[in-house]
Amino acid sequence: MYFTTIFVFMFTEFLHTYRGKLVVVGDWGVGKTSVVQQFLTNGTAFPKNYSMTLGAEISTKQVKIPEQDESVELVIIDCSGKEVYNDLLGSIWENASLLLAVVDVTREDSYKRAKTVIEQVKAKNPDKRIPGIVLANKTDLINRRVVSSKVGSDLAVHLGLLYFEASAKDNSGIEEPFFYLANECHKLHAETASSMADFA
Ligand code: GDP
Ligand code: MG
Repeated sequence: MYFTTIFVFMFTEFLHTYRGKLVVVGDWGVGKTSVVQQFLTNGTAFPKNYSMTLGAEISTKQVKIPEQDESVELVIIDCSGKEVYNDLLGSIWENASLLLAVVDVTREDSYKRAKTVIEQVKAKNPDKRIPGIVLANKTDLINRRVVSSKVGSDLAVHLGLLYFEASAKDNSGIEEPFFYLANECHKLHAETASSMADFA
């Protein structure tokens, strides 16, 4: 027991962990909670019944950085899409380090809403680069799709973000955006650490 504790301690010391505060935003019903739950459970928890997120739900997941003895702990804040929570969410958005904006390919209005909320998150973090993604969800609904990949990626480029597509229902394209964001977070920490070393 004693040795196990020492081993775990040594192991965690050896494996550097950085932390990134990831805010997940977008209109209600676009699939934010479904995307997050699928990521947290490795694709085993697609919520079958709609349950509205009240305020925000926080969870964490460690993401190992490839080819490095380092990992990033993503603190994932699944924010309600309802505007009544904007005052509360405003303080949550301060100090965000990563941004995941979810849109629904069957609802054009969800893209406008995403643009607004992305600008709100950026306004809460002036003078700071926040790596972010526009994630177009529900690609399984092929016959109901009304927004093309081009429109989604143009929006992402316009806002300085990357564009990914996913289906939480099919568990496709779920890990990629989170892995990308964890890697960006790791790069930013590494840059900060090396520029601090320059002053040492
Ligand atoms: P949120 O309000 O943005 O958190 O959205 P939810 O994750 O609660 O999902 C809203 C509704 O969309 C629920 O009924 C989900 O089952 C459904 N949904 C979420 N993702 C997908 C998807 O990829 N495909 C389909 N067909 N439905 C989805
Ligand atoms: Mg939700």
